[in-house]
Amino acid sequence: MSYTKKDYQRSNLEKAFLPTFLMVTIFGYITLKYPELLVSFNLINSSGDLYFFGKSPSFWYMLIYTLIVCGISLKVLFIGKNIYGKGKKSQKPLSKYQKLKFTSIFLSQLIFFFIIPFILPPILEGRSFFADPIANLNKDAYIYVSRGFTSWSAFFYIFIVVPLSVWLFGKRYCSWFCSCGNLAEVIGVTKWGSAWVKHKTPTGKTAKKLEHLQTAFLIGGILFGFVLFLDIIKVVTATNLIEAGRFYNDFIVDFVFGAIIGICAYPFLGTRVWCRYGCPLAKGMELFGRFGKTKFKIQPNDKCIGANLCSQACPMGIDVASYAHLDKAPIKKSFGLDTTPCIGCGGCIDACPVDALSFKKISFQANKGKEK
Ligand code: SF4
Ligand code: SF4
Ligand code: SF4
Repeated sequence: MSYTKKDYQRSNLEKAFLPTFLMVTIFGYITLKYPELLVSFNLINSSGDLYFFGKSPSFWYMLIYTLIVCGISLKVLFIGKNIYGKGKKSQKPLSKYQKLKFTSIFLSQLIFFFIIPFILPPILEGRSFFADPIANLNKDAYIYVSRGFTSWSAFFYIFIVVPLSVWLFGKRYCSWFCSCGNLAEVIGVTKWGSAWVKHKTPTGKTAKKLEHLQTAFLIGGILFGFVLFLDIIKVVTATNLIEAGRFYNDFIVDFVFGAIIGICAYPFLGTRVWCRYGCPLAKGMELFGRFGKTKFKIQPNDKCIGANLCSQACPMGIDVASYAHLDKAPIKKSFGLDTTPCIGCGGCIDACPVDALSFKKISFQANKGKEK
């Protein structure tokens, strides 16, 4: 049994919004990541011209980003209703799991991705808050994996902390903590965002096969990281190789795929296209979860009536219903990272009208009981 997406009619307001959204997003990311392009086209005199009130473009970008993420999280928590359910289910209170998840999204975004990198440095360095030094943006984020080869702290984070979190909690890192995932998660519960998830997220065999693209990005990230490591220990200092790697990592992966496609594709391919097809760290987590025998699982029960709302709610395009029923007869087939890229967002669980799905309790002995 395979679930297929239905056609979706956008409202006139949404149709009018899309070109503006695309232009602002593309221009915004060029401003942020390649301000030198604006200089070369004489749109500005120097990249310093983009520092409004002495604050860098990254600061303003992350301020807007954080306001969106924290604002929507607070709204979800304040309204306190099931955001994934339809009909009667949407009138039920927000589950404890979603309360914790949206609180985590709010706090991680505010503290780890805004206060620590943008508010604390000028205070700790004793410099004026409205006088950011003019500096190139660091495009070397943790999610590109290569950074794990260039510093001990990044190595510890990417190769120890993240895998440990996967072993204990599955890929919940992606739905509870990661900044990219935070935006996808909150947009996915807005009116338009949930329709994009429901109607636009690619499903089916071809969509699943394309997930191998992410494996290629993981291999690319590891190879580039290895070259950087050899350069650090003075084994290889091939400038051309490093420059080629930088072009691949900064322009192709970070800018074109991560920033432009990752965000612009929200209205056309759902909110998790980058997380599903691009992010090297996600593929690493998935492989670790599969071969490290992570404890994370979703378990259907015998209440399933074959409504398929679970599959429609999944931002990762997982055909959840195919694990729950066969021709509307419950089959109770649990799944985790062994067969899917599940991020543990809990959308399918809250969307099910008959409570036929739950997370398996994290157990170090046998699979007993449930978590929700
Ligand atoms: S898939 Fe990658 S970018 Fe997306 S939430 Fe997970 S770690 Fe973050
Ligand atoms: S698990 Fe729930 S939502 Fe999914 S097919 Fe069964 S009854 Fe429908
Ligand atoms: S299967 Fe359920 S918990 Fe996993 S990503 Fe899809 S909706 Fe979220």
